[in-house]
Amino acid sequence: MLQILQLNALSDNYIYLLHDAERGETAVVDPADAEPVLEALHQKGWSLNYIFNTHHHGDHVGANLQLKQATACKIVGALADRQRIPGIDIAVEEGDTIGLGRQSFRIISTPGHTSGHIVYYCQDSAALFCGDTLFSLGCGRLFEGSAEEMWQSLQKLKTLPHDTRIYCAHEYTEANGRFALTIEMDNQALHDRQAEVAELRRLCLATVPSTLAMELATNPFLREQSPSLRRAIGASDTDSPAQVFAKVRLLKDSFR
Ligand code: ZN
Ligand code: FE
Repeated sequence: MLQILQLNALSDNYIYLLHDAERGETAVVDPADAEPVLEALHQKGWSLNYIFNTHHHGDHVGANLQLKQATACKIVGALADRQRIPGIDIAVEEGDTIGLGRQSFRIISTPGHTSGHIVYYCQDSAALFCGDTLFSLGCGRLFEGSAEEMWQSLQKLKTLPHDTRIYCAHEYTEANGRFALTIEMDNQALHDRQAEVAELRRLCLATVPSTLAMELATNPFLREQSPSLRRAIGASDTDSPAQVFAKVRLLKDSFR
């Protein structure tokens, strides 16, 4: 079983330190900032073997070179992004696996937020490190992909076991929930989740990770089939699930 340490960075990023105690190997997912990572490594007495990057944005690769210099770790990133991931050593693509001690991570390609975005899925520990593809109650903005592409990417994640924990890269849940409630007012699970989220934030606690089951029940970007959501956004009966998703994404982009 993976030990997972959740670190706060920048204004609302999460950095994850992953440790396999049996073999004593450690990886960090999307190091936005080196300082909290080096401090945690020092405190735990762990040495860093890998950086796992989900995509090339600065708030995910910002500390790559500094950590590589400090620890001689290897940097894993998408083959499609080998020109854009600083210091990349191991280029991976859909279906590849990368080992960390006795744990293994399957790479799933999830274009949409960026064209080269990948996520890391550890079946043994029921954990998904999904960067800026799927958030709790939300999903990433479409900077380099179409709504259709992002929808396809999310369909892949929907097929994972429902008890999979969703380790996304940002604490955006409360704002996402405010939007979600405007388009699915009659979803009791969503009301309950948003109340829980508000209480956690009041106590300055993380709302992440959630689970895939929770997201399937509450996240509007995974709920194109919901009749009340379809009504609220004015979707017609002939709109495909991908078209419904596209409408929800557009509404979210202009939501304040
Ligand atoms: Zn990003
Ligand atoms: Fe980000």
